[in-house]
Amino acid sequence: MTFDYDLFVIGGGSGGVRAARIAASQYGARVALAEESRMGGTCVIRGCVPKKLMIFAATAPLMAQEMQGYGWQSAATGDFDWPGFRTKLHAELDRLEAVYTSGQQNAGVDLFMQRATIADHHTVELADGTLKTAKHILIAVGGRPVRPDIPGAEHGLISDDLFLLDRLPRRALLIGGGFIACEFATILNGLGVQTVQAYRGDAVLRGFDRQGRDLATAQLRDIGVDLRLGISPTRLDQEGDQTVVTFDDGSTDRFDAVFFATGRAPYTKELGLENTEVRLQKNGAIAVDEWSQSSVPSIFAVGDVTDRVNLTPVAIREGHSYADTVFGAKPRKVNHDIVASAVYMRPFELASVGLTEEQAKARGDVDVFATTFRPMRSGFAGSKERMMMKLLVDPDTDKVLGCHIFGPEAGEMIQLAAIPITMGATKADFDATIAVHPTASEELVTMRQPSEQYRGQGGDD
Ligand code: NDP
Repeated sequence: MTFDYDLFVIGGGSGGVRAARIAASQYGARVALAEESRMGGTCVIRGCVPKKLMIFAATAPLMAQEMQGYGWQSAATGDFDWPGFRTKLHAELDRLEAVYTSGQQNAGVDLFMQRATIADHHTVELADGTLKTAKHILIAVGGRPVRPDIPGAEHGLISDDLFLLDRLPRRALLIGGGFIACEFATILNGLGVQTVQAYRGDAVLRGFDRQGRDLATAQLRDIGVDLRLGISPTRLDQEGDQTVVTFDDGSTDRFDAVFFATGRAPYTKELGLENTEVRLQKNGAIAVDEWSQSSVPSIFAVGDVTDRVNLTPVAIREGHSYADTVFGAKPRKVNHDIVASAVYMRPFELASVGLTEEQAKARGDVDVFATTFRPMRSGFAGSKERMMMKLLVDPDTDKVLGCHIFGPEAGEMIQLAAIPITMGATKADFDATIAVHPTASEELVTMRQPSEQYRGQGGDD
C-alpha cells in the first residue's frame, strides 16, 4: 500500500517538531505535521519560555533590595508596566513561533495548521475533512491543565491565562504546591500582586528532596507569599469582579483572580483513539513501550501524552530517538532514570537530579553529604537565606546517586552536575575536582565528611 506520508505527526510541540524535523531532514522521510493552535506547543507558547521571562521580570525588586546591602541608596524599582512587558513578551513568542514554523518548512515538513484526529491505524482526518494516510502516526499532543472537580471551578483560571491577562490582579490565589504553583507565586509576588498560595500538603513540591522542600516552603513565605498549608478549596463563587473561595477548613476569602495549578492531564480526549486499538493508561495517557511504540505497531507517542517524565527536554529526546530508531535505522532508547529538573523560584531555585535522600534511604545504605550556608552575595547584603547543597552517595560503590541544590541559579548548576552523575561518577571523582573559588557551587567538590551515614534497618550505624 502506498501512503501519502511516511510519518504524520499530530502536535507541533517540543516532541513533535523534533521528530518531524529529524525524520524529514536527516533521513529523507516524507513528513506532515498538524497543529491546532500555535507552533511550538506548551513550552514555547504558554509554558517554560514565557514563564522564565516573567521570572526574570519578577526578580527586580529582590535584586534592588539586595543591592541596598551593597550601598545603593534605594530599593525602589518603580511600577511594573504589565501591558508594555506583555506586548514585548508576545512579540518574542511570535518570533519563536515563526522560528519553529520555518524550521519545519525548511526541513520539508508539510504543515497543517488545524486539528487532526485519528481515523484508523494509518489515517489521520484533518478538521476540514481531508484524510491523509501515513505509514506511521506519531501522537505528540501533550497535556492540558486540569481543574479540580469542585463547584464553581469554571471561575478559576489556568496557567495558560497568566500570559494573556489584560491587567495584573491586585490580589490572587494560586491553588497547588507543584512546579507551576510555586513558580507562579514567585512571579506574581515579584510583580507586586498580593499573592496567596493554598496547598493541601505540609510542604510544597512533593517529590523533591524533603530538605529542599522545607527550604522552598520557607522561602515562599520569606518573600511575602501568604502560603497556607493543609487546605484545599471546596467551592468558588463569582461576585462581580471577585472570586470568593471557600476552603475545607471552613474559611472563605476573596480574590481578583484564582489560578488552578493542580496538575496536567494527557490530551487524548476526542483524538479518535476509539477508532484504533491504542491502549490507554487509567489517567488517559497513551501506554507505550521503551521505543515509544503504542499497542498498535504503526502508532507511536512521545512527550506528556505518554505521562513518563513530563518535561520538555525529555519530550525532545523521545521525539529524536523515535526518528533515529524508525527512520534512521539507529535504535535509540531514552533513559528516564536520571533527569535533572529545576523549579524557578526567587531568590533561590530548587534543582535536583537523581534520587532524593528519602528515595536513597528507601533503596538501602547511603552516605549523605549535605551543607547549608549563607552564600557570599546575599549573605553580605544581610540576607538570612540559606543555600543547600546535597550529594547522596552509595557507600558500597561510591557512586553519586543524587544531587540537590537550593540556591541562586541552581538550575544552571544542576545541569552541570547532571553530566558526571549521568556518567556514573563517584564521590572520589567529585573530590578529585579542584574547586572554582569563590563560588557557591565549589561546595559540591569540597564536602568531605558525610553529615549522615545511613545504614538502613539492621545495618551498623
Ligand atoms: P504538579 O503535578 O507539579 O503539581 C500539582 C499540584 O496540585 C500538587 O501540589 C498537587 O498536590 C496539587 N493538586 C492536585 N490535585 C489537586 C486537587 N484536586 N486539589 C488541590 N490540590 C491539588 O503539576 P503542575 O500543574 O504544577 O505542573 C504540571 C507539570 O508541568 C509538572 O508535572 C511538570 O512536569 C511541568 N512543569 C515543569 C516546570 C519546570 O521544569 N520548571 C515548570 C512548570 C511545569 P499533591 O502534591 O498533594 O499531589
